[in-house]
Amino acid sequence: MRPEILYRLFEPVTAISRVGHRTASLISSLAGPRIVDLIWHLPTSIINRQQLSDLESATPGSQVSVHVTVERHRRPGTPRHPWRIVTTDDAGRKLDLVYFRARESWLTKLLPAGSRRLVSGRIEQFADRLEMVHPDHVAAPGDSDSLPHLEPVYSLVDGLGAPTMQRIISLALERNPELPEWQDRAWLEQNGWPSWSDAVRRIHHPRDLDELAGDPGARDRLAFDELLGDQLALALVRARRRSTPGRSLRGDGSLRTKITHALPFRMTQAQVNAIRDISLDMEAPFPMLRLLQGDVGSGKTLVAVQAMLAAVEAGHQAALLAPTDLLARQHRRTIADLTRDTGIDVVLVTGRDRGAKRSASLRGVANGTSHLVVGTHALLSEGTEFHDLALIVVDEQHRFGVHQRIALAAKGHSVDTLVMTATPIPRTLQMTDYGGLDVTRLDERLPGRQEVTTRAMPTGRLDEVVAALGRAIGRGGRAYWICPVIERSESDDTVSAEDRYRHLSRVFGELAGLVHGRMSAADKDEVMERFTSGAIAVLVATTAVEVGLDVGAATIMVIEQAERFGLAQLHQLRGRVGRGNTPSSCLLLYAPPLNESARRRLDILRHSNDGFEIAEEDLRLRGGGELLGARQSGLPRFRLADQHAATRLLQAAHDDARLIVARDPDLKSERGRALTILLHLFERQDAIRLLASG
Ligand code: ADP
Ligand code: MG
Repeated sequence: MRPEILYRLFEPVTAISRVGHRTASLISSLAGPRIVDLIWHLPTSIINRQQLSDLESATPGSQVSVHVTVERHRRPGTPRHPWRIVTTDDAGRKLDLVYFRARESWLTKLLPAGSRRLVSGRIEQFADRLEMVHPDHVAAPGDSDSLPHLEPVYSLVDGLGAPTMQRIISLALERNPELPEWQDRAWLEQNGWPSWSDAVRRIHHPRDLDELAGDPGARDRLAFDELLGDQLALALVRARRRSTPGRSLRGDGSLRTKITHALPFRMTQAQVNAIRDISLDMEAPFPMLRLLQGDVGSGKTLVAVQAMLAAVEAGHQAALLAPTDLLARQHRRTIADLTRDTGIDVVLVTGRDRGAKRSASLRGVANGTSHLVVGTHALLSEGTEFHDLALIVVDEQHRFGVHQRIALAAKGHSVDTLVMTATPIPRTLQMTDYGGLDVTRLDERLPGRQEVTTRAMPTGRLDEVVAALGRAIGRGGRAYWICPVIERSESDDTVSAEDRYRHLSRVFGELAGLVHGRMSAADKDEVMERFTSGAIAVLVATTAVEVGLDVGAATIMVIEQAERFGLAQLHQLRGRVGRGNTPSSCLLLYAPPLNESARRRLDILRHSNDGFEIAEEDLRLRGGGELLGARQSGLPRFRLADQHAATRLLQAAHDDARLIVARDPDLKSERGRALTILLHLFERQDAIRLLASG
């Protein structure tokens, strides 16, 4: 139940006088349907008319108020041309007031020749002329007190003018209540932040220049409120999970030691730490929900296998869920190799196997003779039952929905869950999107792994590239060639995989192959097999080339029209090579001229192989003024905290939230009750439901 103190904020905007349905729907498209949405429709700027400047010091583009004398009206030659009113300031400089489609009678009354007026608006310069198009205000000198000195500027839509919006938001602000303070007093003081309602008021309606200058603090306050609400909700969800009874899985280590000894390499410290985090979670008496994030080729599979073996040692079953058939098979093979000496059977469950083979696998899973299960979505189907599932591992978690993860977990009881991703997640997103999870990073390069040498080249040099590729193939090299689309369309000049495949087939004959998302799974597999075996040396593909795919012999990656791909995506694609110990290369072909952001992306790739660093850069490049909420994850959308605020304030909000939950898990203290209002204000139903259920 929403606290009463917030009722008026959550009423529809039509509750404001003279807001009808037409205006309401315009407001709704712009800000949202409720009063609170108006409150959060923060001004994009404040027009400051305080300093009356003479035109000498006015910079074009700025908002000024200035006294002028009207000299004459210049009537337009045709109605398409504007009406010009020539004026001069006190120093004798000319300023043209420009009006499109204005009525003559109105203009001559507003600005009669010879009159002195205070005009206010944006100054523009054309050639040597200063202009003000449609001044915001025109006042007789005596009336200048009625001019608002500080005026909020809101983003608008057609049909909703600035004065209307200003009026409606003013009325909305009257409904903004004083709310009990949910922030830590010392923290507020330290930052010099105002109270919630004062911050809202100051941002929309600063009273004086001091308040205007204090705007960053008021905005930070609101951003922090929103971030704290988000982090608190996530911390409550996490805490609730960690206090839910689960099974304590404690193996004797026998299987794990065995495979560790058989490894042809030493585990990295990052792998050892990850394995330790995971086994502590599994031993703990609550359900594990841990995200393991490690760049492509950071050795996540081995960590997953260690976790699965811990479950088996404890006498239970473990399952690994992979997004595609191909990856499931690859994982089964890897896991079978790793566990060969243990005598444990690894079964594969996918949609492709049928008949007796399939029923035999399913029987083993159901009666508990199979302990390690690897599969695709088929694992989720009703036909797949487990005897005693205790751990699930979800590979490439972004390919699955949360409900799929939960559906699989529901096949056991108190199941521990490990989700893995090869997409390095910037710290800010880690805290927001994954804040309810525990996170482990695998951030160490595997020994012997070489960086992929990355170069960028204009497409004009395609022939050279193909010739060099021919030489590399002659030496036994294997290459991916990525194109942005499958098929060419008439309307643009995007390079298609089909066209490039035809072209490369003419050069390399049977050695060229093609794989893309519109082929059947069986056809894709067949092509991939031939690439793995070396029958195909150049594989033309779209981005459908599987994430996680491991063809160690492929050492060359060509990405065509690389400027069309995002940074993270380019890094993922590049990660398909450099997986063995032979030096690998990545060639970014681009169609000049590159715009600034594309140039930056390609530069970053040329200089860095570090996925985490690239992810941060990516967020920064895409960020800027963009709200975090604009990304497509569908998770918390921030309205008040932009990228910049999040970067500065999120960690503090995160720490504060963890502390609050540790001290006052049910939000019963005075501050806790205020924080409950914060959760309601930002509509964190996930957390509110938890609190309600006690
Ligand atoms: P990813 O994190 O992309 O899933 P994988 O688990 O597929 O990476 O590992 C990539 C390759 O590195 C595999 O061939 C694996 O056997 C190997 N590998 C894993 N750990 C190590 C290690 N500590 N030292 C050397 N090679 C390793
Ligand atoms: Mg993997």
